[in-house]
Amino acid sequence: MASAISIHPAVDGGVQPASSGFSGGTLVCACTDRPVKVRIEGQVAHNHACGCTKCWKPNGADFSIVAVVPHDKVTVLENGDKLAVVDPAALIQRHACKECGVHMYGPVEREHAFQGLDFIHPERFQESGWAPPGFAAFVSSIIESGVDPGRMDGIRGRLKELGLEPYDCLSPALMDYVATWVAKKSGAIPS
Ligand SMILES: [Zn+2]
Ligand SMILES: [Zn+2]
Repeated sequence: MASAISIHPAVDGGVQPASSGFSGGTLVCACTDRPVKVRIEGQVAHNHACGCTKCWKPNGADFSIVAVVPHDKVTVLENGDKLAVVDPAALIQRHACKECGVHMYGPVEREHAFQGLDFIHPERFQESGWAPPGFAAFVSSIIESGVDPGRMDGIRGRLKELGLEPYDCLSPALMDYVATWVAKKSGAIPS
């Protein structure tokens, strides 16, 4: 039976497994006229549901679905003139279509643990078979987008039911990765 709680259209019917044959694909924005197309080589990594207020979400969804790929695996194929950076001051330089608003890719150029990675939304692939989300990040932040705090128990319960462990920051593995980068940079642990 379908749950009454919607997380994101790409997972509400159950999380779809990755295809072993997936070798990349083309992300397409929502425009019917001159859509922006971005080629991604290879499989995505660290795919997750994100509740932060910055990630692009489809209409009506409380969460985004967002993953990373190395920057050199990202190529704008068509209609790149429609792209603009949403917030030039942000760590993630989210390149969005000016007409439909879909975020197509977001490189991290600043010195940071995620430098050299681009954040993308795999649901925009024309192809299926991309690695599914494995956890949910920044879950409490959906309240900042207007979700009634009284709904949070139900939402966290639904995330767990889908196998998307809810965290209020990133997952422990990614938080450790970021902290390790900071500690090596400061010399707190040897690099
Ligand atoms: Zn568009
Ligand atoms: Zn986010």
